[in-house]
Amino acid sequence: MNELDSELVSGQLSALGYRFVASAHEADVVLYNTCSVRENAEQKVRSRLGEIAQRKRSEPALVVGVLGCMAERDGPDLIRRMPVVDILCGPSELDRLPALLDNAVRTRASLGGEDAGARSAKQTALQGSASRRTATLAAAADRLELLDLSRAISPTDHNGSAYVRITRGCNKFCTYCVVPNTRGAEVHRPPDHIVDECRRLADAGVIEVTLLGQTVNHYRFEHGAAVTLRGVTQPQKGRAYRGGHRRDPYRGERVTTFADLLKRIHDEVPAIRRLRFVTSYPRDFGDDALEVMRDSPRICRYLHVPAQSGSDTVLQRMNRGYSVGEYLDFIDRARAFLDEPEIGRPLLIAGDMIVGFPGESDEDFDASVRLLERVRYKNCFIFKYSPRPGTAAYTRLPDDVPDAVKRERNTRLLAAQQTISDEIARAQIGNTLDVFVGGLSVRERKQRPGRASDGVGLTVGGRPAQDDADQITRASTAQMTGRTDGDLIVLFDTPDGREPGDLIGRILPVQIHQASTLTLFGALVGDRA
Ligand code: SAM
Ligand code: SF4
Repeated sequence: MNELDSELVSGQLSALGYRFVASAHEADVVLYNTCSVRENAEQKVRSRLGEIAQRKRSEPALVVGVLGCMAERDGPDLIRRMPVVDILCGPSELDRLPALLDNAVRTRASLGGEDAGARSAKQTALQGSASRRTATLAAAADRLELLDLSRAISPTDHNGSAYVRITRGCNKFCTYCVVPNTRGAEVHRPPDHIVDECRRLADAGVIEVTLLGQTVNHYRFEHGAAVTLRGVTQPQKGRAYRGGHRRDPYRGERVTTFADLLKRIHDEVPAIRRLRFVTSYPRDFGDDALEVMRDSPRICRYLHVPAQSGSDTVLQRMNRGYSVGEYLDFIDRARAFLDEPEIGRPLLIAGDMIVGFPGESDEDFDASVRLLERVRYKNCFIFKYSPRPGTAAYTRLPDDVPDAVKRERNTRLLAAQQTISDEIARAQIGNTLDVFVGGLSVRERKQRPGRASDGVGLTVGGRPAQDDADQITRASTAQMTGRTDGDLIVLFDTPDGREPGDLIGRILPVQIHQASTLTLFGALVGDRA
């Protein structure tokens, strides 16, 4: 989500004449797009801000901005604590960034000199608590929609793969999570806008699209309704979709469901050869969407569907709205529809787990290990619980699992996952897999000079395809990275005599000869692209 936000902001600023440089050290304006989901992400930003504060002492005209969830969560307090920050812009206000930046730059220019930092007015755009109150009207007056609609799409600035947002915000209020506060109420984008964006991307050469939403399968657009229709409520926890959710009764002219949207993109934009989506919520997945996935050859057999815990009591305290049994029912249902290894289309599932949530006992944790082993995730992101101010868990549930225990559980769950990931990866040895080639491998990038990035800011142009092509034309052979339909990572070397830059953004057959936990290694065996 943050990656897409950065891309949209970069596009907007490029169109206004801002030029991107390779490193924060060369920039006149440094913007940090931030995440608040866990404390260590915020700490990283604070340390970057500390570093840049030193530079600002000698360059007072430097403009520093904090964008995204940390700006929203900390608000003006962040500026009080870190006066180096000139601009604060929440994730729901990114369309206002050019105006804020323009004001900041002009103020600097007019003040000039050493006083600039101290005297300039700070620029802020935050949604505050208002957005949740006006949630039902948000669909009609969604200014942010303009940011997505104004997306600059050119044939040269992508690597063949792109994100498309379908839903903003979240209404789930899991007790540990800041997202409903920082990104606001759930708003679904009009399906015509989404299909049109996919078409424009495909016209520019994109062949892989990942649809984005915090609960992406929750997508449901009510046509002609700025406010929620009477009786056709948005599916919230404990309301519509309760129990054996299988079909949306209002599907049809008035409503575009997630299943309808998937089918429309698949059928109307066939140039997109891979369509996938993240992140799915286990509760709201109807058979209709699974059927569309099964019957649509260009929709990937991949689901990222976090469980968070294998214990019912912990899930309840997390306010996840499902039990372990219901989660497993969904996994079994998805496999019944989609797992077809015999025709080369296995269903691969990724997950997220939190360890050390308040009150998590040894038995609760053991249940998480059992769940992970039962589901057999392709990979699982495992997080130590991080108490986040403003969340229900922070206020109501003491963070009572000692950090050493969190660390130990984290290590044990990772080890259990590693065994499963190893087995899944090793089973691929000898197979020839279609791989979407995304670019140079991380190792290759590190070995090549001139690829500076501070990894947080918007100071880097973020144009991997072009960068990679430039790098590659100078190299005779290079290690490339790509992904399978099921999102397995594959590394392979460019064969002798091939122009390596031509491979990026294509789907090519790679024979797998070696496997490690998260990576397959292979060799290109032909070129059907
Ligand atoms: N919407 C997605 C869902 O519900 O599955 C997840 C979005 S969240 C930004 C990404 C992941 O961060 C979550 O799945 C969860 O595992 C983790 N996470 C969120 N808040 C956390 C916290 N306070 N401490 C540790 N991990 C957290
Ligand atoms: Fe956070 Fe839960 Fe929403 Fe995911 S579903 S973004 S974890 S509140």
